[in-house]
Order: sequence, then C-alpha cells, then structure tokens
Amino acid sequence: MADRRYVIVGNGFAGTTAAEQLRKADPACSIVLFADEPYCLYNRIALPPMLRLQVTEQKVIMRDMAWHEKLRIDLRLSTRVDRINVADQTVLAAGREEPYDALLVATGGRPNLATSPGAEGAQNVYNFQYMSDTKAISQALETAKVGVAVGGSFIAYELAEAFVSRNVETHWLIRGPRFLRRMLDEAAGELLHDAARADGVHLHFGEEVREFVRSNGAVTKVVTTTGETIDTDLVGIGLGLTINTELCEGTGIATRTGIVTDEHLETDVAGIFSAGDCAEFYDPIAEQHYRMGTWNSAGAHGKLAAHNMAVHGVEGAERKMFDVVPEYSSLVFSGQTITQFGLSPEYRDDIETEVSVDADKMWYRALYFLEDRFVGAVLIGKGNRAGKRRYLDAIKTKARFPKPDRRALLDWTAE
Ligand SMILES: Cc1cc2nc3c(=O)[nH]c(=O)nc-3n(C[C@H](O)[C@H](O)[C@H](O)COP(=O)(O)OP(=O)(O)OC[C@H]3O[C@@H](n4cnc5c(N)ncnc54)[C@H](O)[C@@H]3O)c2cc1C
Repeated sequence: MADRRYVIVGNGFAGTTAAEQLRKADPACSIVLFADEPYCLYNRIALPPMLRLQVTEQKVIMRDMAWHEKLRIDLRLSTRVDRINVADQTVLAAGREEPYDALLVATGGRPNLATSPGAEGAQNVYNFQYMSDTKAISQALETAKVGVAVGGSFIAYELAEAFVSRNVETHWLIRGPRFLRRMLDEAAGELLHDAARADGVHLHFGEEVREFVRSNGAVTKVVTTTGETIDTDLVGIGLGLTINTELCEGTGIATRTGIVTDEHLETDVAGIFSAGDCAEFYDPIAEQHYRMGTWNSAGAHGKLAAHNMAVHGVEGAERKMFDVVPEYSSLVFSGQTITQFGLSPEYRDDIETEVSVDADKMWYRALYFLEDRFVGAVLIGKGNRAGKRRYLDAIKTKARFPKPDRRALLDWTAE
C-alpha cells in the first residue's frame, strides 16, 4: 500500500472525514484534499445557531491547518478542481495535473439563486449554505427591521427562524400549501405552522416572488404573485440545491439526481468514489438508489468511502457496504423538534403511511411502509422521539408488518 496517493475533492464533512479515515487506514499514503472555500472544515449544521448568535464562529470551525499538518493531509484551500481525466488518473486544479490512485468526489451542492426580476446582483438577497453567507446575513440582521424568507425548504425555515430570533419582523413566503410539502402531510404542516406563528412569523402560502423592487442596488420591497407588497430590509432564499456533478461530465460516470454509486460508494469508473450530499448511492437497506443531504450520512459516507478507497485494487481485501439508516434532526420554532429517518413520501410515491397526532402535546408521528416493510418515519414534537432506536432496528432488519399490525408501531416508546 506504500506510495499510494488519494485525492479528495471537497472538504465538507464527507471529504474531511474520508481524509481522516484514509490516514488511519493507510499510514504511508499521501492525501490531497481540495477545497474551493477558504475555510477548513466547519460545521454546516451549526450555521443556523451561529446566525441566531447562539454559537461563535470559533465554535463552528471544526478543524484547523495544524490538524491537517499533523495528519499529513495536504489541504489546498480556495483551490477548485476543474476536471477529472480518467484515462491518466489525474485531476486538473490550479492549472496542474494531480495524479491519484483512488479519487473521492465529495462536492456537495450549491444553493439555487432567486430568479425573479430584480434579484440578480441585489446586495441584500442572500442564500444560506456557506460560512461566508452566514457572516453576510448576520451583518445585515444587525440593522434590519423586516426580513422576507422565501421557499418551503428546511433552509427557508432556518432563515425565517434566524430572522425572528434576531428580533426582525419576519415574512415567510411558501409557494405550496405548507412547509416541506413533499415530505409532510397537512397535519404535520399545521403543527409546525402553529409553532412558527407562535414565534411571530407571518406565513404566506401559495405565494412566490413576482418582483424584487430595488433602490440603489438593494431590494426594498417584495411584490408577491398575489399582488401583495412587503417592505423589507433583506431577503433570504431557500429554494433548494443544485448538486455539483459537473466534474463527472465526459468521464463515463453516471449522474441522475446526483453522482450515481453502488453500495460501496464507487461510481461506474473503478477507483472513483462519491460521498455526501452529491452522491446518489445505492442503499442496501432501503433497496434503492437515492440522495440524502444530511450531516450524519455525509460522515457515514466519508468513512465508508475511505475504507473502500484504501482497499481498492488490493487483492483479497474486503469492501464494506453502506449499512446506516440516514437520519435528519432539527429544532423548529418554539422548541419543537423534527426527526426524519429512512425513506419518506419525498423519495417514493407508493409509500403507505400510518399517522398519529396528539394536538395537546403537539406530537406527530408518521410511519412509512413499502409492501409491508417498515422503511422510515417522521417524528415531530418535543419528547416524541422515544422508540426511535426500535424504529431504526426495524428498518435495518427489514422487519415486515402486515396492515392490521401497523398502527401498534405508532405507540412504540421502549428503547
Ligand atoms: C444552513 C444549513 C443547515 C443544515 N442543517 C442540517 C441539520 O440540522 N441536520 C442535518 O442532518 N443536515 C443539515 N444540513 C445539511 C448538511 O449540512 C449537509 O448534508 C452536509 O454538510 C453535506 O456535507 P458534504 O461534505 O456532502 O457537502 P458540503 O458540506 O456541501 O461540502 C462540499 C464542499 O466541496 C466544495 N466543492 C464543490 N465543488 C468543488 C470543486 N470542484 N473543487 C473543490 N471544492 C469543491 C464545496 O464548496 C463545499 O465546500 C444543513 C445544511 C445547511 C446549509
């Protein structure tokens, strides 16, 4: 294994975890980690608390240069990889060809920009994905009195919550009938909308931005598709991600909703792997390909990809398969929590659902089944996560529940 050279594109949680694991698996190798941002790994899921002034930038940054030097990880900050040359086993970055024995593409996604008239180049219209976005929004919130969050996504919700927590009057525009409409049903939506209203957010459903009205380069009014005009000091956009798959163009690596991999996170091209938000991976537990943008999956992917990169081409070495149930947890307004794991209607149209709602406690559970197999769940409400471990075990073991037995699962609490 001596003298092997691993190249990783992207220093998010997936890429940096992979680099760390590669060092453990192969002490003699060289590792080059390319990052187009100017920062060492930071905790992307701590950006919302940073925007709410609950944690400092220092707490959000997870690694520094000294850590990379100690682990002999050659981190190249602010250096974009422009091309993969499969035939030569090199990547092109900063005009130089960099050879690899195994390559990991962990490039994540970039936020979609607002496209309504008046958005382009406006000083105070922000996306929320990077450390640099967080600093810019935070500065704008210091003087803002009114803010508009746009979109039905988790990110739009994070923006709305940050705005209200900074005492900014907040309007939240959602095109559909509810927040996360592809995942949540009406009952779950109502629960979360009530929590948002309790925090003082003005919710606008069925509305998009028709126009951003500008003065001296900054948006001062948002005109909605129903003709309403909202005066504002800043706008936050949460309209989803475009996955960074461009590096794979012309390489023979398949891309669909992301970079397609097998259960080992290896792409169609031997020796090239993909991990994290950008990977449309084969999940042997769910028995299907899908893409899941969560912090936990990014870390689990990073570890798995590193193992399989280290054994790539090593005769007799055993590759590992993905064996984690992906999970997303977040706080949402008024101390509410939302936890989602496994598959949901967002990923499959043919999912069958069992739901329970306890309006007094503000609890909601939805359990998802595919042909009797229990495949995922959404749990909303403070203290409503009891039973989670049992659910995860049932998903992992592919336990089956005929229709008459399913409602009993809603009462699972024992750990
Ligand atoms: C505000 C916010 C809140 C979130 N909250 C939660 C949460 O509560 N729970 C949860 O589970 N998940 C949450 N997520 C999602 C979670 O952060 C992501 O799923 C996870 O960070 C993805 O990690 P990654 O390493 O795959 O990709 P990323 O973190 O996106 O890292 C990819 C990196 O690669 C860089 N890159 C791209 N192309 C190139 C190139 N050609 N050359 C060099 N570098 C390149 C990118 O700039 C980026 O720095 C949140 C995300 C955001 C933005």
